[in-house]
Amino acid sequence: MKLKYLGTAAAEAFPAVFCNCKYCNEARELGGKNIRTRSQSLINDDLLIDFPADTYHHFITHGIRGDRIKYLLITHAHSDHLYQRDLFRRYGCYAHNMSVPTLELYCSSYAASTLEGEIPNVHVNIIKAFDVVEFGGYKVTALPARHMPGGEPLNYIIECDGKSLLYAHDTGYFFDETFEYIEKSGIRFDMLSLDCTNVDIPVPDTGHHMGFPNIERVVERLRTLGAVGANTAICVNHFSHNGNPLHSHLCERASEYGYFVSYDGCEIEF
Ligand SMILES: [Zn+2]
Ligand SMILES: [Zn+2]
Ligand SMILES: [Zn+2]
Repeated sequence: MKLKYLGTAAAEAFPAVFCNCKYCNEARELGGKNIRTRSQSLINDDLLIDFPADTYHHFITHGIRGDRIKYLLITHAHSDHLYQRDLFRRYGCYAHNMSVPTLELYCSSYAASTLEGEIPNVHVNIIKAFDVVEFGGYKVTALPARHMPGGEPLNYIIECDGKSLLYAHDTGYFFDETFEYIEKSGIRFDMLSLDCTNVDIPVPDTGHHMGFPNIERVVERLRTLGAVGANTAICVNHFSHNGNPLHSHLCERASEYGYFVSYDGCEIEF
């Protein structure tokens, strides 16, 4: 399975749209891996996770053909994960001769309820926590995220070709029922992609994002369940400017735990 990170920042992006803090200014000066757009990932060449306003920029930057995307998983309805306006460009005079006539979109009923009507050539599949759906060689399990109360946020287990990925954005420390489900399923992950919005800023395990200490507690608990082993690649992703997400700083912190750090355009094959 191939995972390409297209956008790796939290909602305000990094540097943040209107921010004049020292981290944002340093990022503007350094450029490169310090420039982080809104959250989106591509699995192989046909499964997109989330649809922020930066989607168009991601497609142009990375040579991705939007009309060839077959499946779209939405984690939740925050604007950095679901910017619906551009989905409405998928028809008529806006989009000719699309390779994939109908895009299959999977999201919670809450996220679907935020859509402004039916989107032409997009088929919305409603899923809820612990649902399992199969399409195009993928098996996708929805997990409840600790995030956006009342908004039915989802994280995903994605399995394909005998490999498995846990994609956990956005979320705080996992619910007990998530750990229990993972334990019962007997799954052993090849890769974890974990919410690191807060970086070093302390956040309680009841909070709606994580930083390094929360992530370490998630990883250790998954390890005791047998879901994480020595060969599991662990990547931290989705960073807010408040926690200092300069790439060199993140790499330094992540190396203390043996984690990878995502950046826009980073591709991992496992
Ligand atoms: Zn987000
Ligand atoms: Zn800032
Ligand atoms: Zn969010």
